Amino acid sequence: MKKRLGNFAVIGDPVEHSLSPKIHNLFAKQHGNQIEYEKIRVAKGLFVAFVEDFFSNRGAGLNITLPLKAEAFEIADTLDEDSKSCQAVNTLKPVNGKLSGFNTDGVGFLTDLEAWHGIAVKDKRILLLGSGGAAKGIVRPLLSREPKTLVIANRTHASARALADQLNSENFIGIEGLGLDDTQLMKKRFDIIINATSAGHKNSEMPIDENFLEDAICYDLSYGPAASFFRWAESSGAKRSIDGLGMLIEQAAKSYEIWTGFSPNTESVRARIRNDLGI
Ligand code: NDP
Repeated sequence: MKKRLGNFAVIGDPVEHSLSPKIHNLFAKQHGNQIEYEKIRVAKGLFVAFVEDFFSNRGAGLNITLPLKAEAFEIADTLDEDSKSCQAVNTLKPVNGKLSGFNTDGVGFLTDLEAWHGIAVKDKRILLLGSGGAAKGIVRPLLSREPKTLVIANRTHASARALADQLNSENFIGIEGLGLDDTQLMKKRFDIIINATSAGHKNSEMPIDENFLEDAICYDLSYGPAASFFRWAESSGAKRSIDGLGMLIEQAAKSYEIWTGFSPNTESVRARIRNDLGI
């Protein structure tokens, strides 16, 4: 018999274009259950009041997107290791009157990269573009796979360096933080280039020169119309180019599993969403 699993939502600002309701409804259908999953725009100043109200009214789980992941980290009573290390929460679950916080971006990224695209990170030279929330969410899972080298390059040099310094002060060694226009960067070559900047949302120039693409696998965390790095790399000589839609679906699957205990089979959902988007 079909169960109603309670109310879920993705909150952020902006959130209008989120695919999460569609993805989670497909997971629930596969699970044989029904969910209410909304997308709700919540301004930073209203976050705490919204979360309290949501969970006192049948709220069973929240996904948190920009710019509220740090606020969700602050409000959670307990945290998983991934959210602790990047200080950002994208999944909240109520447990015995308390809120548990999780970050599923790293798992989503690695599942897509390794299991779906068959790409191994071990001993590869990696360039990570960007040092914002998404870069922080994936960088430790990436390092757990022991790449040969990791360079973090960001428009604002200081934040790339701060992230590299932070990682070097943990158990990782030899990570470089550079500016996108740094001459040191120009001399290097990479096996895997990951775009974790939001440049694609703003129709900005590509963050790196075409010369970097030769023989490189490119992975753009952006998807849909914002995935201009993915499209540019694909048409400009990269060995392979992958967009971030798979990661989005895999991180959502992990959230669904955290809330319900059911681990969705993502294959049909991946195909359905791509088909609906025509990509
Ligand atoms: P943040 O706002 O935290 O960080 C944005 C990053 O992009 C910063 O490093 C910023 O550099 C850089 N940036 C912004 N504009 C430009 C530009 N014009 N040129 C070069 N660099 C620029 O965003 P997030 O880290 O949360 O998100 C980044 C991207 O990842 C987004 O496109 C988001 O949609 C995507 N994402 C995808 C997910 C998925 O499941 N596929 C999950 C999470 C995010 P600076 O420090 O100089 O401002």
